[in-house]
Amino acid sequence: MPTASNPARTTHAFFDIDTQIDFLFPAGALYARGAEQIIPTIATLNHLAARRGCPLISTTCAHPEVAEEFKVWPPHCIVGTLGQTKPASTLLDSRITIPYTAIALPGIAAQQIILEKNELDLFTNPNLIPLLDALNITDCTVYGVLTEYCVQHAAMGLLSTGRRVRLVTDAIHHLSAIAAEEMLTAFKARGGELLTTAAIAMD
Ligand SMILES: [Zn+2]
Repeated sequence: MPTASNPARTTHAFFDIDTQIDFLFPAGALYARGAEQIIPTIATLNHLAARRGCPLISTTCAHPEVAEEFKVWPPHCIVGTLGQTKPASTLLDSRITIPYTAIALPGIAAQQIILEKNELDLFTNPNLIPLLDALNITDCTVYGVLTEYCVQHAAMGLLSTGRRVRLVTDAIHHLSAIAAEEMLTAFKARGGELLTTAAIAMD
């Protein structure tokens, strides 16, 4: 397993974006219709990352009861609620949580890194860039929800850091099909690649 002190063993990381109960399940606070259908695929990809020894970065909204986001969105993913948690099938046994306040990055031996955030953009977590650098991540496989919001921030933001980014088209879900299509077009125009879970499994 790669660690922060031994980063050269892998350069490929999987990014599982906001696959939390509030977004995925019909009873969730910010449910995207049909999103529960991608949960088995998310679970497959997360466990594939583990089998290949690739770091898995699972971002999560981890909001306090009063959050800036709630001026725009219904309250969701409040710490301590069931809706903030991830479906059990998307969790790996070996995991560590990194908060959205700046910390001295610990040595990362865990397979799943839960990266918390209090805004849509995962790059608002000041620990993300140091983490990417510490693990020497150059290739990124991205999936999760929602395509035109948090997935977009992940995919475009990682491209902006100069890394290779691949988006898994059968493991993302949107609110607006039109906005999601526009996002994918813009992503490809910037050099991003689209592929399917089946293609990753055959890599
Ligand atoms: Zn949120």
